[in-house]
Order: sequence, then C-alpha cells, then structure tokens
Amino acid sequence: MFDVSQVRKDFPILEEKIYDKPLVYLDNGATTQRPLTVIDKMTEYYLRYNSNVHRGVHYLSNKCTDANEEAREIVRKFINAAFTEEIIFTRGTTESINLVAHSFGEAFINEGDEIIVTEMEHHANIVPWQMLCDRKKAVLKVVPFNDKGELDMEVFGKLLNERVKLVGVAYVSNVLGTVNPVKQIIDAAHARRAYVLVDGAQAIQHIPVDVQGLDCDFFAFSGHKIYGPTGIGVLYGKKSLLEQMPPWQGGGEMIKEVRFEKTTYNELPFKFEAGTPDFIGVIGLGEALEYVNRIGLDGIARYEHELLGYAMEQIRRIPGIILYGEAAEKSSVISFGIEGIHPFDLGTLLDKMGIAVRTGQLCAEPVMQHYGVTAMARASIAMYNTREEIDVFCAGLKKIEQIFKM
Ligand code: PMP
Repeated sequence: MFDVSQVRKDFPILEEKIYDKPLVYLDNGATTQRPLTVIDKMTEYYLRYNSNVHRGVHYLSNKCTDANEEAREIVRKFINAAFTEEIIFTRGTTESINLVAHSFGEAFINEGDEIIVTEMEHHANIVPWQMLCDRKKAVLKVVPFNDKGELDMEVFGKLLNERVKLVGVAYVSNVLGTVNPVKQIIDAAHARRAYVLVDGAQAIQHIPVDVQGLDCDFFAFSGHKIYGPTGIGVLYGKKSLLEQMPPWQGGGEMIKEVRFEKTTYNELPFKFEAGTPDFIGVIGLGEALEYVNRIGLDGIARYEHELLGYAMEQIRRIPGIILYGEAAEKSSVISFGIEGIHPFDLGTLLDKMGIAVRTGQLCAEPVMQHYGVTAMARASIAMYNTREEIDVFCAGLKKIEQIFKM
C-alpha cells in the first residue's frame, strides 16, 4: 500500500520552512525533489569511489564503471527495453532529442521529407526539429489540439503521408497534463513507415513505461523529473535504428580506433557517449529508479491520479478560475489563471505563503498562443504531495482572489 507520510520522510527538503511557513512544493513538473537515498548514494561515491569510468585498471575506476553499467541495466528494466545497449546516457530530455535530430536527421532526413510534432510540445521537442528542417530543407507539420487539450487525431491521420519520416510527441504535456494516445500514434505512424520519438519527460515519473509494448523508436526522459539528479538523462532507441545512425559528438570513449587516415567508432551505446559522462549522476539516477521501484509505480500512479482528481475538484471552486487543459486522460499538471490577476502576481503571492508554483510560458509558447495568453501559472504534483497541501494551495488562491477583488 502506498503510504504518503512514509514517502515524505524520505525527502528532507519537505520539512523546510519558507518565510516561516511550511513548504508546499507544487513545482514538480519543473523538477522533483531527491530522496535521501539518492543524495546518500551520490555522496558515498564522491567521498569514497570517485574515479573516471571505462578507462582505468584500478579499483576505484572499476567500481565506478560497474556502478555506471549497473545503472544502465536498471534503466533498461525500468522502461522494459530489450537490450542494455539501447540505453544512452545524455544530459537530459533536451539533449536526447537533439541527439536524435542530429544523428537520425543526418542519416534519414532528406529534402522535402516531413516531420510531425504537436501544438502542445515543449520547446525541446520543437526547436531541434526546426533546426533539422532548416539544415535539410525538410518540412515541419503540426497536429493541433482542442480547447480541452486533446490532440486532433483526425488531422494527425490526414498529415500522415509517405513523406513523413518522424513523429515527435509528448507522452504527457507539461502544460495541459494531457496523456496523449501515444500507442495509437505509434501504430498509425508505423503503418505509414514513419518513426516515432516519445518525449517522456512528464510521463516517466507518473506512468509505468514499456518501450517494447509501445513499440516507440525513441524515448527520452530526464533524471531530475523522477527524483534523480540534474544533468543526467536517457535516450532509448531501438538497436537496429541506433546502429544505422552516425555518432553525433566526437571525442574519447565513442571511438574504436583513431588514425589520421580514418577513425572507427565504438559499439553501442558508447558510440553516442563522447567524453567523460556524469557517471555519479548516472549512479544517482539508478538509485532514484530503484527507489521508485521499491515504492511501486503502479501505487504511485493510483495515488497521484486520486490526488489530481481532488485538486481539480477544489480548484474549480475558486472564483474567477481559468483552467487550461481538461483532457479526459490527464496527469499531475494543473495550469491555471484567475481572471483579472496576472500569473506572475499569483506566483509571487503564493510564494509568500510558502507555496511553490511555476509561472510564465512554461517552455511552450505555442500553447500560450493557442489560448491567447502570454503566461500561465502551473501547479504540478508528485507522489509526496498531500490533500492537506492542496487545501493550503486552494485557500491561498481564494485569499489572493479576495485581495484583488477589493
Ligand atoms: N519535454 C517536456 C515535456 C518537459 O516537461 C521538459 C522539461 N520541462 C523537457 C522536455 C526538457 O527537459 P530537460 O530540461 O530536463 O532537458
């Protein structure tokens, strides 16, 4: 059974006071907090074992190398990839997508080809494709969403044609919280021989992911959104595809032999991991995933779903509330405004009450344009949030609404 009070004990930061008020951390979509076990594991490696991986013959280097590769196996199991070589460590979702845009783009995209993204993508799943389209004279097409925040699957179906080489789609929107029908999208794209990259940045911590079940070609996520460290992320790619893709960055570790006449490249996954990796970050990510495994993602998902339902019910009662994104399939993100109050004022006043929410364009300007606004406020929940915190948050909103009404 999922026990939130037990989980909260694992996160020391949740005991912090902000302006003398208990912290209510509702900015988990931006980054989650790290449990003590992750902090301890990384500290232990810095204190006792720090040494560069894959290069040494000595004890410490082997210790870090083994832990780095064990973490790769933990990631493989976590997303149910078929092979460990399919797990490439990057700096985060952004770098994973850029890697694909460069390397897959180099090998597979030609003039006149089309790439499809959706109107609700994070900038990280838009700009790399625009840059690729500029380099290759390819064309970017966009699937719109309706006012509830659901993708227009009819338009998607119409956009799929033989020129489409890749579809990039967020599993969960970081603004609308919509859980997109990625399996349906992948099957439809494959029927037209297009590949699919799933941006899993907002899904990995909330939804059990099975890349083989989904049959996606690429899956990207960041460690810091799933209770792991910053600066580390994952690109999953199907082995057969990764093998056909050229290296992206050159340097140490990604080579087999270097000659001035001709250099040959390393095997997967190292072909895509040039230079010294953030190996202690990798080890921290492995620990974070093990921690989530111990609690159980199914139980976490049920708890968060229930908490989101409660939060939506409560927030709807706030006078003047504007909600962005009310899809039938929704996860952990509530973007909102209050009539007559700028989102920055909302965020600033909530902050004074110890409540952390995000405000701004949320790295998704096309979503702002869809609703004709320049900014939103966003509360995003994680497994350690409680009903009591939602009550404090909604009471805070009511108070702000009252102040502005006067
Ligand atoms: N995609 C989505 C849906 C996101 O929410 C984020 C992070 N806000 C990213 C991509 C980028 O992740 P990162 O900044 O960790 O690379």
